[in-house]
Amino acid sequence: MALLDPSIWTDKIYVNGWREGGAGSADAVEPATGKTLGSYGVASVEDVLEAARTAAAAQKEWAARKPEERAAVLRRAGALWEEHAEELGGWITREAGSIPPKAGLETHSAANECYDASALPSHPAGEVLATNEQRWSFSRRRPAGVVSVIAPFNFPVILSIRAVAPALALGNAVLLKPDPRTAVCGGVALMRVFEEAGLPAGLLSLLPGGAEIGAAVVEAPEVRVIAFTGSTGAGRKIAESAGRLLKRAHLELGGNNAMIVLPGADLAKAASAAAFGSFMHQGQICMTTGRHIVHEDIYEQYVEALAEKAAHLPVGDPAAGNVALGPIIDENQLKKIDGIVQDAVAAGARLAAGGTSDALFYRPTVLADVTPENPAWRQEIFGPVAPVMKFSTVDEAVELANDSEYGLSLSILGDVGMAMDIADRVESGKVHINEQTVNDESNAPFGGVKDSGNGGRVGGAAANLESFTEIQWLTMRPEIAPYPF
Ligand code: NAD
Repeated sequence: MALLDPSIWTDKIYVNGWREGGAGSADAVEPATGKTLGSYGVASVEDVLEAARTAAAAQKEWAARKPEERAAVLRRAGALWEEHAEELGGWITREAGSIPPKAGLETHSAANECYDASALPSHPAGEVLATNEQRWSFSRRRPAGVVSVIAPFNFPVILSIRAVAPALALGNAVLLKPDPRTAVCGGVALMRVFEEAGLPAGLLSLLPGGAEIGAAVVEAPEVRVIAFTGSTGAGRKIAESAGRLLKRAHLELGGNNAMIVLPGADLAKAASAAAFGSFMHQGQICMTTGRHIVHEDIYEQYVEALAEKAAHLPVGDPAAGNVALGPIIDENQLKKIDGIVQDAVAAGARLAAGGTSDALFYRPTVLADVTPENPAWRQEIFGPVAPVMKFSTVDEAVELANDSEYGLSLSILGDVGMAMDIADRVESGKVHINEQTVNDESNAPFGGVKDSGNGGRVGGAAANLESFTEIQWLTMRPEIAPYPF
């Protein structure tokens, strides 16, 4: 049977079982064709409140389970992502407008996230502390309780599962709020995987909806931790609510990532890395290469080589043919991208390639000769646009790279000695030497600084333990201690 058999989930949300959503249903639409792929249930605020109560009750029993039982559910979930990769990948291709290799990367990473998480239940849960008293003293990690996961549309599976899997593995219950544009591949798919993997009902709820449902999963009283991935604007609102309610919020936000191309860098390889960094998934990635900072000696050849790549990359329906770029997710995003490109040209940038669109298909675009004030340089575009600027000294390159409110990912191409010096001086959560900016692995700590995030991290046991547990100090004596009172 297909894992995503529509008779199971059509028009339904999941709270302790599949049922109608209090806010009705909505269509899952394929951006490449405008076709309706299915209809999913939409949650109401009452659904969220009920899911949070259900989660809090189910979580206690789940946390008390043997570690090996929780691990087994996560291992089965990992296997299901692999067994159903083609079916689930097909949904990611059509609903999120992803080329098949990107869809395959998502299902592959989802399996890895589950396998890595399956080691967490038996991971050492604390430390034995030195103490000045006649007692034993421990620091031990306990599940946080109920965790809300809010995800965006661009990598709908990875950006949900990277928090859902470790949170469940560590004994928490989870409320999942996917983006309405990818509610099936980023919501129903995860729900079905964990349902088939044998996760007890009540521990994971699927609550599709817009910003108001996102706000409700933050505010629900039982929720202790929020794992949010999305825009800096929405992240700020969530941080404000979380601060008022004294909850922990892990925020993975926007980026405007620089690629510094050093003198003497191999031009053909640099142009290939640059095209991948800027155009992969239509540039709709938080780690997209958004600013190319290129040494003046190779600047003109670099712009030419990148424009040549851009001009020849095929763009079209990823479900229908072999293309490098699929559609932009919707009309609003496309208008935003095109608006920034037009403004950039009006402000003096040279259009070296692209700048045109057909339906939701935006041509990969190269903007040369941009200045630090240019709108294409200052803003996160979230589209297939590569703004390029030249530098002459390493100090200047570092200054340009740091001249952004964001600090998520940074790439340096060329001489490793020079790159090591730059890596020590840039404000960025991730630095990749001789690779482009889009990089992620389930065991690596992921997160940004400045407006790209609040320092919370996912990825790797240390980050996941920190994010999804609370620390308890526990002391023990053989007898009741004597006191002077
Ligand atoms: P968005 O912030 O509009 O939406 C993301 C999610 O948050 C959606 O599920 C949305 O419904 C929900 N949401 C929106 N407003 C909310 C609110 N006030 N309260 C609670 N939930 C709310 O993001 P988008 O523009 O659709 O996605 C693109 C953005 O996400 C870009 O800025 C991109 O850089 C960022 N992003 C960051 C990472 C990362 O790991 N740092 C990864 C992918 C995308």
